[in-house]
Amino acid sequence: MTTCTTCPYCGVGCGVLAQPDTPVSGDPNHPANFGRLCSKGTALGDTVGLEGRLLAPRLGGKDVSWDHALGLVAEKFLAAIRNHGPDSVAFYVSGQLLTEDYYVANKLMKGFIGSANIDTNSRLCMASSVAGHKRAFGSDTVPGQYEDFEQADLVVLVGSNTAWCHPVLFRRLEAAKAARPNMKIVVIDPRRTATAKSADLHLAIAPDGDAALFNRLLAEISRRGLINQEYVDAHVEGLGAALEAAGTPHPCGLPEDEIAQFLDMWCSTEKVVTLYSQGVNQSYCGSDKVNAILNCHLATGRIGRPGMGPFSMTGQPNAMGGREVGGLANMLACHLDLENAGHRSAVREFWAAPRMADKPGLKAVDLFQACADGKIKALWVMSTNPAVSMPEADQVAEAIRTVPFTVVSDILAGTDTNKCCDLLLPATGWGEKSGTVTNSERCISRQRPFLPTPGEARPDWAIIAEVGRRMGWAEAFDFANEAEVFREHAALSGVAAHQGRDFDISGLADLSDSDYDALAPTVWPVPADGVSPKRFFAGGGFYHADGKARMLAITPPVLADHGTALRLNTGRVRDQWHTMTRTGRAPQLGAHLAEPYLEIHPEDAARIGLEEAGLAEVKNNHGRALLRVLVSDKVRAGECFAPMHWTGETASQGRVNALVTGVVDPVSGQPALKGSSVGVTPY
Ligand code: SF4
Repeated sequence: MTTCTTCPYCGVGCGVLAQPDTPVSGDPNHPANFGRLCSKGTALGDTVGLEGRLLAPRLGGKDVSWDHALGLVAEKFLAAIRNHGPDSVAFYVSGQLLTEDYYVANKLMKGFIGSANIDTNSRLCMASSVAGHKRAFGSDTVPGQYEDFEQADLVVLVGSNTAWCHPVLFRRLEAAKAARPNMKIVVIDPRRTATAKSADLHLAIAPDGDAALFNRLLAEISRRGLINQEYVDAHVEGLGAALEAAGTPHPCGLPEDEIAQFLDMWCSTEKVVTLYSQGVNQSYCGSDKVNAILNCHLATGRIGRPGMGPFSMTGQPNAMGGREVGGLANMLACHLDLENAGHRSAVREFWAAPRMADKPGLKAVDLFQACADGKIKALWVMSTNPAVSMPEADQVAEAIRTVPFTVVSDILAGTDTNKCCDLLLPATGWGEKSGTVTNSERCISRQRPFLPTPGEARPDWAIIAEVGRRMGWAEAFDFANEAEVFREHAALSGVAAHQGRDFDISGLADLSDSDYDALAPTVWPVPADGVSPKRFFAGGGFYHADGKARMLAITPPVLADHGTALRLNTGRVRDQWHTMTRTGRAPQLGAHLAEPYLEIHPEDAARIGLEEAGLAEVKNNHGRALLRVLVSDKVRAGECFAPMHWTGETASQGRVNALVTGVVDPVSGQPALKGSSVGVTPY
């Protein structure tokens, strides 16, 4: 029997048809992909074997019973809370979790433990977009839909190698351009990526030059008289200050003729979509970059209408679902605000919560620093591998080892993070578990099981709920199944809607178990009264108290000077995902790029004495990696690129995030994963 489910990799959220022992195929009826899959999605069937799986709870290297393991988690967390207070414990969770898992984890930490020390690897992915959205719109709202890319006359891709990182969306864009050759694509990226190859215009901008470029655009919009005064008067505050800040041009590393070409294309095209991704978000000024982009769309009213708007492309399969349940340390639930007393009170009442968190918790970088500083006494890592993926990864691994009690729930036994933890809990994985995910266009899709549960593995939501019951909150965590969790989440969204929030799926709160199981891909909002706009903000209706959006005065940063060092840009390759714990199992995916590498400009390679295919030692104060040399003018001189996927305990295994400095955007707390200084020498 064929099962309709959803790909567990990127934020495109493609529908997949799957059955045991058979290659998967794309779901022709899923609105994200209409049957297409990329190489990673196509290889899913080759990644579900049981080799290396964690099949029973394991403590100190020995299998133990679930009863013992769960009792130990409850006991250790309760003891830490009793002796050191609720902020002495922390959860570090993941955009790989399903919404139901995320909801239960967030409820336990924020409503019952009484701390907001739950953060997620989504902090590394799109926290700057969340911050930018909230500053501009008053809510974390993605206004548009994927079909806007196909309907636009100009698509601007900023800091996004869409062709490799969101391949199916890029195929849709290519198909639209083939059907309408007058459609234009601009790629703004320091690297000449696979995406840039298909562009009508590639702007090899200086890293972090984006805010300066979009300020130039805002000034040009004004100079040409293209401000949509009617829209701004009715729906936007802050135009004057934003224009004043944009009035002083700052360098962005591009020649004037290229800037002029871009400004002309943007200004002369009504239907513009500006997509932005990690090149914007993963920066010490990521939130400002996001708001510089949003300013241009707000000033022209090009938002929320077919074929136009800003679009944050999310990295992970359920980063959006995590945002919806409030899984970031500075969010509450259902897009309610942790720092709003009315919102906290509404959630407290709904949950009948004994101890609500009343201030933001530790964001990812600070959370692991608190571990290193001895402030965290019990840590639970769920479905992610921070000992590889966090900035300063070697120090993070050491910080995890420092915590007196550490538990991890994962599908695999031997990840780098698991090796640092005391107790391992076996979780069910893709193909085995059931729940929902939300993709980048706000579409909620079901992940459905088609494989038997291996060993003693359990769904994450069930593991967390059982710990909640054992900690003394039996009624609040008495969920019979994932459908019941979803119904509670949907009902809470109705409370949020009454508080004036955008996220409303209360129309799904009464789904029966079988309706939930059969739920077709559904774009939110789904309010109980059935009125469901597909896009947001064409007619205003922003979520600040006065209903208006905010344009921000953005001062672009001074572009960094790395001296004789190189600036290290990190990112993904086409056929691998995160720390390769799954894609590394499919041999065909290793054929694309088989080993960790350093892409370096010919001038720098010659200066340093590096030869093509030789080995480079890449070093800074935080760590070291040995990488294969790829000499290429696709990167700018003075910069280099290395993929972040490879893992292992030694530098020769290419642990690139060991080299990334834990500098963060002060607004979003998102690390600057693309801006570290490194020294490079031949090895
Ligand atoms: Fe999966 Fe993303 Fe590829 Fe679609 S584009 S198949 S969601 S990895």
